This record gives sequence, C-alpha cells and structure tokens, in this order.
Amino acid sequence: MVIKMKTYLGMDFGGTKLLIGEVDSEGTVLRSKRYATGFTRQADAVQALLSAVRDYRDNVGFIGELAAAGVGIVGIVDNARGQWISIGHDPEGPPVPLAQMISEELGVPCGIDNDVRSSTTAELLLGQGRYSQNFIYLNVGTGLAAGFVVGGKLLRGAHVNAGEIGHMVVDLSDGTPCVCGRFGCVENVVSGIGFTRQAQLHGLQELMTQAGGRVDACLLMDRAEAGDKDCLEIINSGAHALACLIMNLVRVTDPDTIIYGGGILSDERFLRKVEQGLDPSTMRGIPGGLTASSFNPRYAGLLGAASLGMVKMRPRSLEATA
Ligand SMILES: [Zn+2]
Repeated sequence: MVIKMKTYLGMDFGGTKLLIGEVDSEGTVLRSKRYATGFTRQADAVQALLSAVRDYRDNVGFIGELAAAGVGIVGIVDNARGQWISIGHDPEGPPVPLAQMISEELGVPCGIDNDVRSSTTAELLLGQGRYSQNFIYLNVGTGLAAGFVVGGKLLRGAHVNAGEIGHMVVDLSDGTPCVCGRFGCVENVVSGIGFTRQAQLHGLQELMTQAGGRVDACLLMDRAEAGDKDCLEIINSGAHALACLIMNLVRVTDPDTIIYGGGILSDERFLRKVEQGLDPSTMRGIPGGLTASSFNPRYAGLLGAASLGMVKMRPRSLEATA
C-alpha cells in the first residue's frame, strides 16, 4: 500500500489574480494554477472562487492526500467564524460563510483570513517567524499592512481590523484627506498607492506606466538616482515615513524580529534608505535589523493561504482557540 503525503490546498485571492495550489507540509508548492479575477462585487468573487476550486479539483487534481485547505483573501475576514465579511471597506450584505462553503466543496477543513494575516501565519509556520514569538510582518506593496505576533499569538482585534497600519499618521503637514478621513496617513506617502499620489502631486504623469495608472517604483528610484529632484524628494520622504512607521511599531509591541515582504522593499536601494533612517537605540532589540521574507514572492500568498489549512490540523498552534 502506498501512503500518500499529506498536502494542503491554498487559494490566494488577490485584487487581480487567483492562484490555487497544492502545498506539502514543508511549504513546497507541488502544483498550481492561475485564474483570472478582478471582481469588485463580493457575490461575483465568491462564485468565481467556487468555480475555480471545482475546476482545480476536477481537472488538475491532487498529488497527495488533501488534509485541509485555506483561503487568503482581500477585504475584512473573520478567521474565527470562517466568514468573509466584505471585499472592501463596507459589507454588501450578511457575512459569507466562505470557510464552510469551500470545506463542503473539498471535503476537508478550511481556514480563511485576510491576505496580510495569511502571510503572517505562513511566516510563523514556515518562514522567518519560526524563530520568534514576537515579530512584526510588514507588507509594503500596493498598500501597507502588517501582522503582529505577540507572545506567539497573532493579533486580530475586536473587529478583526488589527494591523491596518497604513492609516497611521506620519505627515502632520499633509492637507489632503485620506480615504479613512484623516490627514497624512503613511500609505499615502510610501506604498504603490502613496508613490502614485506623490507623483501626481509633483506632476509626474509620465511615471505612471504600470497597470491601473500606478507609478513604477523602480522607475521612480532610477530617476531619483539620475538626479531628478522631484523623484528624489518622493523617495526620501517615503523612506523617512517608512522608517518612522517601523520605529513607532517597535515601540508598540517590542518585537525581536521584523520581517518584510511586498514589492516596494524588494528594491535594495530603497531598503538601504529606509535602514539608514532607523535609529539604532530604538532598534536595539532587533539585532538582525529588517529581515526579508524567505518565500518566493510568486508563491508567498499561496503559502499564506495553505498555512491557514495547516493551522486547522495543528491543535496546539497559535490559532487553536480561534
Ligand atoms: Zn488613512
């Protein structure tokens, strides 16, 4: 009799893509398939996810013995109840019992969480967070978000909104309101959204070469290095704001490790600028400085989703009481 290895199905449901893949217990991606998304209505997104799951099960199939599944998804997610509350800021209707729907489709337990907390869970189980009970996972991509692990537990908050650090204020002189209603939020200074906003304010329309009219952060950095004063100002303000944010977060949860992911900090030049802005005495409890996620960026979201399934099978893990 051949004993099949236990595997986990991850569903990484982002704003522009859905990646479904089978992952082993060490975090190796065995097989995956990409599906198109881009939905703005939650009901449409749920139907697309269910039909993609059926397609994967029926046409791709599983290599190992599927033990559990996980969905890492945009919006507001109640991990404990397995409910997807909303795709954006405001719910369209009652919460969607997404974990149960996927579980019934696949016949295995399913966990769900939002994208940044999925990534934080993957760091804790499979990545750089394995060596720490107190770390911050910081994602600087299109937006800015963080996952906080304190005493081995992932913080969620009373309304599952803990970690929305993009709306912490770093610029008191900013006169344009953020979508959240406040002024000077860090996401508007340093992120894909923030760099785009700053480029618009500086009249640099030609930098918006990426899909959706977003600014290409690498191009911005190239221009800054070539001596463009506006680009240099945007980059320097962004690095200063991010360093300020990181040091503020350090003062809140006293971590020993800060793990980062997302496209913006993967630019070494920008990373160095941020590091130069970190005050050694504030950062003295973090001897390793900023630590890059060890995951292949292509599969980081998928590993996050699969790790939510792994948590379901580990009774003594951090989420056991959830
Ligand atoms: Zn804000």
